[in-house]
Amino acid sequence: MSELTATVASAPAPARAAPLLRPGNSNCPGCGMSMALQIFARGIEHRRVQLVVPASCAAVMAGPFPTTSLAAPVVLSTFGAGAAVATGLARVARLNGDGTRVVCWAGDGGTYDIGMASLSAAAERDEDVLYVCYDNEIYGNTGGQRSSATPAGASTTNTPAGKLEEKKDILAILAAHRVRYAASLSIAHPQDAVRKVRRALDTSGFRFLHVLAPCPTGWKSEPALGIELVRLAVRSGLYPIVEIVEGRKLVINHEPDFSTEALELYLSLQRRFQRSGLSAERFAAAIAQNWRDLRARSGRIVPADREG
Ligand code: SF4
Repeated sequence: MSELTATVASAPAPARAAPLLRPGNSNCPGCGMSMALQIFARGIEHRRVQLVVPASCAAVMAGPFPTTSLAAPVVLSTFGAGAAVATGLARVARLNGDGTRVVCWAGDGGTYDIGMASLSAAAERDEDVLYVCYDNEIYGNTGGQRSSATPAGASTTNTPAGKLEEKKDILAILAAHRVRYAASLSIAHPQDAVRKVRRALDTSGFRFLHVLAPCPTGWKSEPALGIELVRLAVRSGLYPIVEIVEGRKLVINHEPDFSTEALELYLSLQRRFQRSGLSAERFAAAIAQNWRDLRARSGRIVPADREG
């Protein structure tokens, strides 16, 4: 080991004294991505991190040097190259031996759609990357168009009458790559979320975290209601809080009460669901099916449906 390498390897990682997201950033008031970054910062603690941010609201928020809003080294990338750029930086970090954890912080457009090829490739090669998708269920930065993360029934600028197709199951897609660790985070359940961030940062190989991130601009909801909306999504069963290890072992971290009232409130507090007229019963049927699948995958005994 050269003298330079030895010096870098033994340098202690500085403690995080400042928040990861600095005040004065360009995010809209009440942005769920901002809240997700605050939770993420609590999980980072003293760890040395480097961020890769593909095109998104997060890339705009990161801003130009030296006035960046993020208190960590950041590389911006094109929509499709986030996971590939993170792969390169992770390999450099490993060569340097300084313990830097490379984190790709991407929106749903850069994950579910345009970034899927490089994401799938990095996951399949088990690159040493933590990939975080903040999912606001639209292309927030380019005018609020539908993505494959947009739920059925939601109006967007190019599906004004409401999207017809169901949302992709991104955790199942990543689990099919048998990634080391995949989990969903709720900004309304910060203890569970911080635990998962720490676990993901301290695991080697490819890891994936999914965060439901309310977007008051696109969801047409009150900025103050972001955390409450996620709480309602969890309570109703719409947003399951789970983790999957090695693509096989699925753990349900939070058992919802499947409240009909919570589901109706979740839908009524966002004007994006008004035009399609999709009923809460229709959502409830999809939720019930999803939870039958989750319970089966978690190894719980699921009684067979009775005929007749
Ligand atoms: S458009 Fe949505 S995701 Fe983008 S900064 Fe505003 S609230 Fe956040």
